[in-house]
Amino acid sequence: MKALINIDYTYDFVADDGKLTAGKPAQALEQKIVEVTKEFTDNGDFVVFAIDGHDATDQYHPEMKLFPPHNLIGTPGRALYGSLNDFYQANKDKGNAYWIDKRHYSAFSGTDLDIRLRERNITELTLVGVCTDICVLHTAVDAYNLGYKINVPENCVASFNQIGHDWALSHFKGSLGANVFEA
Ligand code: ZN
Repeated sequence: MKALINIDYTYDFVADDGKLTAGKPAQALEQKIVEVTKEFTDNGDFVVFAIDGHDATDQYHPEMKLFPPHNLIGTPGRALYGSLNDFYQANKDKGNAYWIDKRHYSAFSGTDLDIRLRERNITELTLVGVCTDICVLHTAVDAYNLGYKINVPENCVASFNQIGHDWALSHFKGSLGANVFEA
């Protein structure tokens, strides 16, 4: 069984005026991410939305020192971006979408994602979203360590850092044994 993990494709990470935006390279993914999400949904596969959720008053969070406040819980910046949000709103109650508030880069860190996947006998994950070299990377490394087979459609991931993006794609392929392909 397989699942799609949609990572941080939110207003703050994608829109021109998002709080921590990857900008144009991220905006360019919109149609393809929706297409892949629709494909998994139509197939009845498990579709996870693993979305950063921060609290501006959380002085203990390590990201406080690293990045400006972003994806704050309860703010519009945390909504999925563009037509992915439209798709999510229209399909979230159909039974196979699962929203995770994550606190760290990895969708596995401090969440019940691994348990939810194992309950469904899922062994293969497709990762889409942003940023290739941060949240997608950390999720991929955890998935690898937990024994999942990993797929990364390269036209469904992006970063504000092109060198980091390219490096991460080669790391997925060369060190995590991931299938990196054009969706
Ligand atoms: Zn964050």
